[in-house]
Amino acid sequence: MLERAQEILKQYYGYSSFRSGQEKIIKSILQGIDTLGIMPTGGGKSICFQIPALLFSGVSIIISPLISLMKDQVDALNSLGIEATYINSSLDQEEFEERIHRAGQGKYKLIYVAPERLESPRFRTKLKALPVSMLAIDEAHCVSQWGHDFRTSYLAIAPFIQELPRRPVVTAFTATATPEVTQDIVRLLSLKNPLVYSTGFNRENLNFSVLRGENKRDFLVDYLECNKEQAGIVYAATRKEVDALHEYLRKKGFAVGKYHAGLSDAERISNQEMFLYDDISIMVATNAFGMGIDKSNVRYVIHYNMPKNMESYYQEAGRAGRDGEPGECILLFTPQDIQVQKFLIEQSQLSEERKRFEYQKLQAMVDYCHTPRCLRKYILSYFSEEKTPEECGNCSNCKDDSELTDMTVEAQKIFSCIIRMKEQYGISLVADVLKGSQNKKVLQYGFNSLSTYGLLKEYTVKQITDMINVLVAEGYLYLTEGQYPVVKIRPKAIPVLKSQEKVLQKVRRKEQKPATGDL
Ligand code: ADP
Ligand code: ZN
Repeated sequence: MLERAQEILKQYYGYSSFRSGQEKIIKSILQGIDTLGIMPTGGGKSICFQIPALLFSGVSIIISPLISLMKDQVDALNSLGIEATYINSSLDQEEFEERIHRAGQGKYKLIYVAPERLESPRFRTKLKALPVSMLAIDEAHCVSQWGHDFRTSYLAIAPFIQELPRRPVVTAFTATATPEVTQDIVRLLSLKNPLVYSTGFNRENLNFSVLRGENKRDFLVDYLECNKEQAGIVYAATRKEVDALHEYLRKKGFAVGKYHAGLSDAERISNQEMFLYDDISIMVATNAFGMGIDKSNVRYVIHYNMPKNMESYYQEAGRAGRDGEPGECILLFTPQDIQVQKFLIEQSQLSEERKRFEYQKLQAMVDYCHTPRCLRKYILSYFSEEKTPEECGNCSNCKDDSELTDMTVEAQKIFSCIIRMKEQYGISLVADVLKGSQNKKVLQYGFNSLSTYGLLKEYTVKQITDMINVLVAEGYLYLTEGQYPVVKIRPKAIPVLKSQEKVLQKVRRKEQKPATGDL
């Protein structure tokens, strides 16, 4: 069977070998074992279920959450000469009946189905009449409340499997690998003794950079000027920001389009197509853009604002370099980004427990923006990659050649100040006190009479805030969860306070920028 799979890979797709992981996952599916494939965006999961679908005698049903993605995949399969179709809400009644009819005649090897369809008993009855060999569930994390894109309709999948007269092989795919999500997928999709296979999350061709304290617009214009020939995505946090940035870049003469949920369907589709077909090279978008977009030659993904968590960041950044050629992933950080994300969490309808969880994830994202360590290493350990990777040598932290400076004294002053303030206040008030600010709150609480008042007055408030954030990212301090987090001391700070240990930090040079010309 595996040999046949190799042949199909060559014959239909024109690739000479499977990527790491693809072979293992395909083999498992072909042996009839339920399989959960965890692979990053661009990892090549489509082939993992398409090739088994061609080898099985019956039909395979692919559950996919996105209408645009279904159409693209089906078009791609048809152009390879593979019989496939999709059934979702974009079809009119007649077309729907026609496709069901043809499915009944065994005309298709693959049928893409939107999960909402499974909520219709009538539709389920039609599917039950087909000889279903395999059920493949794309974006399987949508079944979990802990995932970043929960959809209730995914809960209809397990009962549907139960109802089938013969249980097919069930296979699920996701790019989210946290233990909570993995467990939920296995349980809520009722996978039977599944093989869980993670292909590893490293994307060697991607370069990661975090830039703090840049003038974002200036940076962006410089970068785009240097990379005019390349296609790239600029993600911003809100529709308003996308509109403003799009207008700004358009006036500067860039071939730029935009995408967010506030645009009409027609506008979104047309902008997306212009980007896919290289009529415009830059797409400014909210996170509404991208899931399921297979544009292989995206050379850079710039985050104009910090996203809400590492899962979202890695998925969005991962849209660069899907063709295996170099891709650059740049995150432009400012402290306001944290406020925006907190506001979004507070405004959401989530339960208190869930909000706390979101705050934790947000903090991991903030830490990514402040860690002085290898960014790739940070990402891979976040996604609980087993082996601790070496420093990559090509992220902005690895390439940062600035000297290590001893910031022990500054750290001691910060820790002392937090203790004097009884570990009851947030970062900005602590920074104000260390700066020796005369602001109302400082005076009102009488912090101007603390011995630590003004201890770091030679620094700007921003520099002090930055230092505190670095100490958080490095585990000396932590923030309580919630909209107004309080900064507190961790045990790791104690030896520093006692002058038993030093805190060494790289001090970023202002002019440092990621290499732009070498793409
Ligand atoms: P995703 O996991 O994000 O769904 P895709 O299945 O769209 O990824 O694959 C990403 C890209 O990698 C596609 O352009 C695909 O054609 C290519 N690809 C997948 N498998 C292989 C392979 N074995 N050899 C070469 N290219 C591959
Ligand atoms: Zn690195």
